[in-house]
Parts: sequence; structure tokens; C-alpha cells
Amino acid sequence: MIEKQFQRLSDEVGSCNRCGLHEHRSRAVFGTGNPYAELMVIGEGPGEEEDKQGLPFVGKSGQLLDKILGAAGFSREENVFIANIVKCRPPENRDPTPDERTTCLPFLLLQIELIQPSIIILLGGTALKGLIDPDGKITQVRGKWMKWHQFHVMPTYHPSALLRNPDLKKDVWADMKLVMQKYRELVDPEHQSPHI
Ligand code: SF4
Repeated sequence: MIEKQFQRLSDEVGSCNRCGLHEHRSRAVFGTGNPYAELMVIGEGPGEEEDKQGLPFVGKSGQLLDKILGAAGFSREENVFIANIVKCRPPENRDPTPDERTTCLPFLLLQIELIQPSIIILLGGTALKGLIDPDGKITQVRGKWMKWHQFHVMPTYHPSALLRNPDLKKDVWADMKLVMQKYRELVDPEHQSPHI
């Protein structure tokens, strides 16, 4: 059931030309993972590699994200769905503009509505601004639970920020520990991570 709705939505995203980002894309990047996941991860937008492959988080940032998720006992194949605020690559990897974010947002809202995750992780300032608070600052809110509609939302740093500044890794790990704790509380008390 969800799969069919996802396919229709994915087809719509693939042929979307609602904003200027469609002009330079190779492929729109709908999202990937388990549509029945209780954990959803939301990033900013596709980069060069993602644009080529049509999948989110497949470059260096994606490899780091998979490591972080894996350390917390999660994987995109089993218990996570990963999507972005905008589905098409902004040229030169610039930040998506507020207009582009707003134009693309209905696709993400539909994805959230279909998946109904218990927990959402927002990766970076663009995800925070695009979904919850246009004036939000990731440095101020990371590591603190937010309630958005019925969803428990954890903002944290984007993996690309960790690649630029490895000192931030300890903050993200602290945030992931909170996510594991909440996941055990809301979804699976037996959830195992290789570390905790
Ligand atoms: S970024 Fe979103 S709104 Fe803009 S063209 Fe791509 S799918 Fe459509």
C-alpha cells in the first residue's frame, strides 16, 4: 500500500519542474530506506554523487552517515528512511534558497505523512530551517528534543560539517545516544547498538 503511494510520489518528484533546480539536475533524489521505518533522517539536498545516482547520502557524507547510524544500531535497509529538504541538486552545492525549500517541502511532508515515523533526525541548519523554523540555528538547538506535530525531532549536525570539523563528532554521538534512548522508549525496548 505505502509502496504504491511512494512510487506515485517518486514518479511525480522525478518529473517535477516546480522550481529552477530541475534545470540542472541529472536525477531527482526521492529518498531511500524502509517506508515503514520508525526513524526518519532528513538532510539538505543532493550533492554531485547523489545527483548522478539518484540516491541520497551516497558520497563521503553518506558514508559517514551510514557509520553513525550503524554505530547506533540503525541501517537504511532495515529501520531508517532518508530524505532531503530539496529533491534536486542546487548548482555548485550551494544551500537551497528559502523559495526552493518552500516549493519542494510538500513532497517531504507527504513522505512524512506516509511513513509516520516516531522519531525524525534533522541533519544541519537547512533541514531545521526547511522543516521547522526558518530562523532556527542548528548550533543553538542541536541535542535538544523538539516536538513538531506528533513527531519527536532531534536536530544535529550534518555529516558534511563533521568532515570539515571532526571535533563535532562527539556532539553528534551524544545526540545519537538520545535518539537510541528515545527509540528504545517508543519503538523497541530491545534495540541493540554495537556500542551501548
Ligand atoms: S527541488 Fe523539488 S520542487 Fe524543485 S524541481 Fe526538484 S522536486 Fe521539484
